[in-house]
Amino acid sequence: MRLVEMEIARQDWAATLCGCGGSAEHLAGDLLQLAGGGSLHEPCHVSLEDHVWSAVVLWEPAPAVTSVALAALADDVAPTAREWFLDLLQHLVVGEGTDGESARRGLDLPELCRDLAVHGIWLLYEEVMSNQSFGAGIAFEILTVVEPDRARLQRLREIAATWLPVCCRTGLCDDDLRVPDR
Ligand SMILES: [Zn+2]
Ligand SMILES: [Zn+2]
Repeated sequence: MRLVEMEIARQDWAATLCGCGGSAEHLAGDLLQLAGGGSLHEPCHVSLEDHVWSAVVLWEPAPAVTSVALAALADDVAPTAREWFLDLLQHLVVGEGTDGESARRGLDLPELCRDLAVHGIWLLYEEVMSNQSFGAGIAFEILTVVEPDRARLQRLREIAATWLPVCCRTGLCDDDLRVPDR
C-alpha cells in the first residue's frame, strides 16, 4: 500500500476543484478506501463518477487520479481493488471532454490522462498477462487507447488470446481495427 499512499499524499487535493463542486480533498480518503488502506483495512468501492469523470467530461482531479490509479497497479492492492482502479483508469483515458473551468485554463484533461497512462504501459501489459479475470480485458482496452506501438499491442492480443474477452480478441473494442458499419 505504500505506493498508493505516497501518490495520494503527493497531490494537492485541497487546491483542486472536484466535479461535485466542492474541494477535491475528499478524494484522498475515497481513493485510499478504494485501495483498501482506509480504516476498514479492506477495499471498499466508492464511485468517483461526477467527481472525477462523467459521461461527458473529465473534471480537474482527473490527472491526479490517473497517477494514483497507476501507483495502485504497481502496488500490492487486492485483486478487487485492481479491477476498480483499472475501471477508473479506463473512464479517464476514454474521456472526451474537459470541464468548463479547466478548459478555460487551457487544459485538455483527457489528453493529460492519456499522456500519464502511457508512462504506465508496462503495468497494463503485466495486468493483461497475469490477471486472467475481468481485469485483463479492461487493461487490454486501456492499451488499445494509449499504446502507440500497435504492432506490440497486436502481439499481446495473440499471446493473451485464450483468456482475453471476445471483443479484445477480435478487435471489436479497438477503434483502429473496428470495421465501420455499412
Ligand atoms: Zn467530489
Ligand atoms: Zn475488449
